[in-house]
Amino acid sequence: MSNNPAMNRRVVLAERPKGAATLGSFRLETVAPPQPAPGEVLVRTLWLSLDPYMRGRMNDAPSYAPPVELGGVMTAQTVSRVEASQSPEFRVGDLVLAPSGWQDLAACPAKTLTRLPKIEHPSWALGVLGMTGLTAYVGLLDIGKAAAGETVAVAAATGAVGSIVGQIAKIKGCRVVGIAGGPEKCRWAVQELGFDACIDHRAPSFKDSLAAACPKGIDVYFENVGGAILRAVVPLLNTHARIPVCGLIAYYGGAPRTADGGAAPPDPDWVPLLMRTMLVKRMTMQGFIIFEHDDRHPEFFAAMQGWLSEGRIKYREDVVQGLENAPQAFLGLLEGRNFGKLVVRVADVD
Ligand code: NDP
Repeated sequence: MSNNPAMNRRVVLAERPKGAATLGSFRLETVAPPQPAPGEVLVRTLWLSLDPYMRGRMNDAPSYAPPVELGGVMTAQTVSRVEASQSPEFRVGDLVLAPSGWQDLAACPAKTLTRLPKIEHPSWALGVLGMTGLTAYVGLLDIGKAAAGETVAVAAATGAVGSIVGQIAKIKGCRVVGIAGGPEKCRWAVQELGFDACIDHRAPSFKDSLAAACPKGIDVYFENVGGAILRAVVPLLNTHARIPVCGLIAYYGGAPRTADGGAAPPDPDWVPLLMRTMLVKRMTMQGFIIFEHDDRHPEFFAAMQGWLSEGRIKYREDVVQGLENAPQAFLGLLEGRNFGKLVVRVADVD
């Protein structure tokens, strides 16, 4: 992690990926640090959040947020420390959530920063107590309307969002079936997180095992992935099932890929089957983007703090050391190599 604290290292978008992103999509640069203008605050990144949505920002395509410019710093939320302030709202030493990206130092407008309350693990503000935790809470309860006694299935079940979805569903009295990549992740979901079952989507028996784990069908399918997993879920959905569409990571590299990054077999046109199931079973499928649900943060934060302190929610981070390792770690996230919420330790001070 050795670096000159007087300089700014930053990871920029070197080229737009065609299909899967590669290490060549990124470039690490060292430049002079930015100077904060009036109304701005200079922040130093302590923790950097790596999230699947960043793959979408590498494409120059219409979406809910603008793309990263070629040569621009990769987008990210960070937990940062104020180094210098040209705003009366922040003082040197304050810990903040900042949209400062994959870099050591950034000059951010004060209005884009959120001062962090005192929490034991500041990096959790990027995960279980922040964006991914809120996503799980809103997606499961507001969009999915999960109720006691129902069966909830969730893919990417040991990841930042999925692991919290399943645990909140257990707290609410649901049967929870996770879907994850590999036996180690599945064991952890059942033994540590308390899921009723977790099915390995890489195993040849995946479809049959999933059906066996859902004897009463599926009432809420929390969609994080798409592709082959969604195809296995659809026949198991119950009348009036709800599908909060949170993410579609299997498609983020362009054409559908398998979880280990290989090319998926050609996708037959199964839209007619999906639409027929939607109609016959009167299902609801609703996409959501979490930044439209900030108003839910206070209720979520109070509930989650309580569950964490009571030991009812467990949280696992996958910590990568050093900004220079962010590209490799991010590519791993898109292939299921992370185990828990992926964060990068950028500076080893708090
Ligand atoms: P995770 O921590 O769950 O990491 C991603 C996981 O996805 C991998 O570990 C892997 O898990 C799984 N995965 C990757 N590629 C594939 C594939 N081709 N097929 C099947 N599984 C794959 O990430 P997050 O919890 O941060 O994000 C989960 C989803 O939620 C993403 O789709 C993300 O875009 C979305 N999201 C949406 C938000 C919104 O506002 N709508 C906000 C936050 C996240 P495994 O090895 O178990 O398969």
